[in-house]
Amino acid sequence: MDKNEARQRIDSLKAVLWENSRKYYVENAPTMSDYDYDQLMHELEDLENQFPELRTPDSPTQKVGSDSESGFAKYPHKYPMLSLGNTYSIEEVEAFAQRALKSIDTPFSFCCELKFDGTAICLTYRKGRLFRALTRGDGVVGDDVTANALNIENIPYSLKGSGWPEEFEIRGEILMPYNSFERLNRERELNEDPPFANPRNAASGSLKLQDPSEVARRGLFCTLYHIPTGQVDYPTHDEALRAAESWGLPVSHERRLCRSTEEIEGFIKHWDTERKNLPYPTDGIVIKINEMDVQRTLGYTAKSPRWAVAYKFKAEQALTPILSIDYQVGRTGAVTPVANLEPVFLSGTIVKRATLVNEDQMRMLDIHVGDSVYVEKGGEIIPKITAVEPSRRLPGARIPEFPAVCPDCGTPLVKNEGEAKWFCPNTDGCPTQIKGKLEHFVSRAEKQR
Ligand code: NAD
Repeated sequence: MDKNEARQRIDSLKAVLWENSRKYYVENAPTMSDYDYDQLMHELEDLENQFPELRTPDSPTQKVGSDSESGFAKYPHKYPMLSLGNTYSIEEVEAFAQRALKSIDTPFSFCCELKFDGTAICLTYRKGRLFRALTRGDGVVGDDVTANALNIENIPYSLKGSGWPEEFEIRGEILMPYNSFERLNRERELNEDPPFANPRNAASGSLKLQDPSEVARRGLFCTLYHIPTGQVDYPTHDEALRAAESWGLPVSHERRLCRSTEEIEGFIKHWDTERKNLPYPTDGIVIKINEMDVQRTLGYTAKSPRWAVAYKFKAEQALTPILSIDYQVGRTGAVTPVANLEPVFLSGTIVKRATLVNEDQMRMLDIHVGDSVYVEKGGEIIPKITAVEPSRRLPGARIPEFPAVCPDCGTPLVKNEGEAKWFCPNTDGCPTQIKGKLEHFVSRAEKQR
C-alpha cells in the first residue's frame, strides 16, 4: 500500500472507530461487535506503525473513547485513566511475558486477574470517607457520579481498619450481574423502551442516571482492581489490593500470582471455561506486572500501561438453522421480525429465538428461508444473528417476504420517513397493541405503588 492509499484507509478507519466509540460509550448502544471493533483498531495501529508520519494526536489509537456527558460536573483525574493493550491471541500474551522476563533483571511476578466487563470507576477516599466517584470520561477529566456511587450497595462510604492514607484513589469497575440485567430488560420490554444490548451497556447507562434512587434499584455492584502507583506505599500491586480489602473495599479475589508463561496460560484456560459460571460478565484476563517499581520503570504509552496486557475472550458463536420467522407487533405498532431457531446451546443457555431487528437488517444479512445462521450473544446474553452460512443454503431458497399487512389485525403496514421499522397504524383497534398498552399501563401503575 502506498502512502496515499494508507492515508485514505487511515481516515476512513478513524471515522468508523470514532463513530462506533460514541455509540458504545455515550449512547450505550453499540452496533458493531467488540471483536470487529478491535480488528479495525489493530489495522489502524499497524498502518500507523508503517507510516508513523500519518499518526495524529486525534487518532483513536492515541486517546481513550470518551464516556463524558453533559449534566455531570467534571473533575480532572489525578492520574490519567487509560485503556489496556489487548489481544485475542495467547501467543501475543506469551510474547508480552517473554519480553518482560528478558528485559527485567530483578525477580518479579505477574498478577493475573479477571477482566470485568462493566464500566470503569475511580473512587477517591479522603480522611477515610468517600469523597468523589468519577467515570473515566475522556481519561483526563471524568464525570462526577458520587451520588450514584453512594447508591451502589457494596461501595462503602466510610473505610474500616487503619493505615489508609489521608487521601487516595482506587479504581475498578461497576458491573451489572446477569439476573439484574434480565430483570431490567424485561421491565424495559414491557415499557417498550429499547433493551440494553448487554450488561456492560446497562451498567454504564445506569451509572449515568440522574436519579440516584433508580440507581439503587438497578442491582449494580463494584469490584476494585487498581491503586495507581504513588498513592499507597506497598511494594506490589497484590499487597496494595490486600490492604484495600482490609479497609472494607470490594476487591476481587479471582486473581493469581504467576511466574511463568505456562502459569499465565493455565489461568487463562481455567477462566475461559469457569467464567461461564460467574453471575456477572467478564470479557478476558488482565495480566499485570505485580512489582510497583517495575511498573514505574516501564511506564505508559499515550493510551495504556506498558506493564499490563488484556487477553480478550472471543464471543461464543453457534451455527443453527432458522425454522421460521415470526413478525411481532409491539405496543406502539412496530413490527419486529424474530427468527425461531433450531434450539442450540450457547454460553450457558439454550437459544431458541433471536431478533432480526427490522426489514433492513434482514436484507443486509441476506436471509433466505431455511438458512443456517451464526448466533452470538452480545455480552453473552441477548442472542443476535451475525451472519448467514452460505454453504448451507438450500437450493432455490427464496428471500422471505416482509408482511404487507399487520399479522394480527390485517391493516396495511406503513413506514414513516426516516424510520427503519414498519408499523401497524390501527392503534385503537389492533388487539395486540391494545393488550400491550394495557400491560404497559398495569406495570407502570405497579411501579408507582
Ligand atoms: P478495554 O475494555 O478493552 O480495557 C480497558 C478497561 O478494562 C479498563 O479501562 C477497565 O475499565 C477494564 N478492566 C476490567 N477489569 C480490569 C482489571 N482487572 N484490571 C484493569 N482494568 C480492568 O478498553 P476500553 O478502552 O475501556 O475499551 C476499548 C474496548 O471497548 C475495545 O477494545 C472494544 O472491545 C470495546 N469497544 C467496542 C465498541 C463497539 O462498537 N463494539 C466501540 C468502542 C469500544
